[in-house]
Amino acid sequence: MGTNHYNNDSMECKDVLARLYTFLDGELTEERRIRIRRHLDECSPCLEAYEFEAELRQMVANRLRDRVPDMLRSKISQLIEKDSQSAN
Ligand SMILES: [Zn+2]
Repeated sequence: MGTNHYNNDSMECKDVLARLYTFLDGELTEERRIRIRRHLDECSPCLEAYEFEAELRQMVANRLRDRVPDMLRSKISQLIEKDSQSAN
């Protein structure tokens, strides 16, 4: 305890969990991704949380893709765009 020099560099569980979403979104820097990866390799509770979240996303993504045809999807994004413009 306390002698591990990797301690300075390793992230705490709460930090990893707080960044899971951004990690999955791929919006983190390379360095942060590596640090999270390393933590996930060594910490099974966090890995489980990560896998759960990743699976959930995959499921939602698949479902949306199945349900919403491309035409409808572009229509929706047009509506959203219009909506956000008129909101100003
Ligand atoms: Zn952890």
